[in-house]
Amino acid sequence: MIKGYVHSIESFGAVDGPGVRFVVFMQGCKMRCKYCHNPETWKIPSELNGDSSEESIEAEKEDTNSNDSLCSYKVVTPEEIFKQALRYKPYWKNGGGITVSGGEALLQIDFIIELFTLAKKEGVHTTLDTSGNPYMNDGEWFEKFKKLCEVTDLFMLDIKQIDDEKHKDLTGFSNKNILDMATYLSDNDKAMWIRYVLVPGLTDDEGDVKKLAEFIDTLKTVERVEVLPYHRMGVPTYEKLGIKYRLEGVTAPDADTIKKTKEILNIE
Ligand code: SF4
Repeated sequence: MIKGYVHSIESFGAVDGPGVRFVVFMQGCKMRCKYCHNPETWKIPSELNGDSSEESIEAEKEDTNSNDSLCSYKVVTPEEIFKQALRYKPYWKNGGGITVSGGEALLQIDFIIELFTLAKKEGVHTTLDTSGNPYMNDGEWFEKFKKLCEVTDLFMLDIKQIDDEKHKDLTGFSNKNILDMATYLSDNDKAMWIRYVLVPGLTDDEGDVKKLAEFIDTLKTVERVEVLPYHRMGVPTYEKLGIKYRLEGVTAPDADTIKKTKEILNIE
């Protein structure tokens, strides 16, 4: 039986896709974005974590040192979540529906395929909010991803940094497979929203933003680009979890930087 490890649910999400949405936040993420405001979603349930890569081991070490009391999740089936979601169907006007987010939702691709298959049978709009980190374009995983594309109406893809070295510094991982995923979605006519978190000193370099704009220009199916200004609302969670916050002294971007970034990315 396919199980999902769900960190939390938001019944009336307004920022995770079109309209009002039932948002499912999956537990587990391998990336360690310095600005992440949901570190409680990082810990990968042991049932999912068969990975012994260096990055994963480093992440586990960090988790081991943390206070686990906030890292709780529920084990559910796609059927159970879909039944729960359907109670909110009357509110899904103007393109609303179900969004699966994270953590990193693609770590639980089997669960999402099942959930979105149920949703599409009932004509419900489906959105996947992802960092793209697990994406690979070969093997069994890629076959699953193709299946997922068939039942996903919209991909909300975070591009954390267009410069690969800076991306590694920011998240612990390369962006190459993430950019490949964006290109695959474009080549296969899948609608995308691109999201970019603007962090002073880390992602606000005009040259980087211009390169990002050039990359986005190569994609045919981007419906929207969003700039999300960095904020520090996650800091208390780091303190509670006993995890060091790595952006001490970094403040939210000023209005001019936000305006300039949006101009470069052609956002009105
Ligand atoms: S991908 Fe998302 S959940 Fe994972 S560390 Fe980055 S911001 Fe946090």
